[in-house]
Amino acid sequence: MAGKKTGLNETPCPCGSGVEYMRCCGRYLDGGEIPKTAEQLMRSRYCGFVLCAEAYLLSTWHPDTRPGRVSLDRSQRWLGLSIRATEAGESGDDTGTVEFIARFKVDGKGHRLHEISRFEKIEDRWYYLDGQHIKTGQSNRMK
Ligand SMILES: [Zn+2]
Repeated sequence: MAGKKTGLNETPCPCGSGVEYMRCCGRYLDGGEIPKTAEQLMRSRYCGFVLCAEAYLLSTWHPDTRPGRVSLDRSQRWLGLSIRATEAGESGDDTGTVEFIARFKVDGKGHRLHEISRFEKIEDRWYYLDGQHIKTGQSNRMK
């Protein structure tokens, strides 16, 4: 059986879906399955940050925007993910966006990352293209 690596098999998935890790994002990070929707990829990449799975983050990054390496800050503790909206990104689409808020702590201080991520499909695989950060409250004040 796949998925012995993380020891998370029967714990709830860090992405907050309420489903066991190995039946949710663990299928992609540890099980070798390929996400069918942009949201599934988004959730699994969030888990990649939680679990410091740098290789997984790189392999799901669009070749046009992929950094040479990912160095994660291990003092950063991820607290939760909430998906706010999705646009396209279904199995029949080639592009999609996912708006989310991820909460994390650094040195005991809480932060929120609010981002609209763009995803693109190449040869039937979804990749993370780029993201636009949204400042809290900003959208209401825009002219
Ligand atoms: Zn998950």
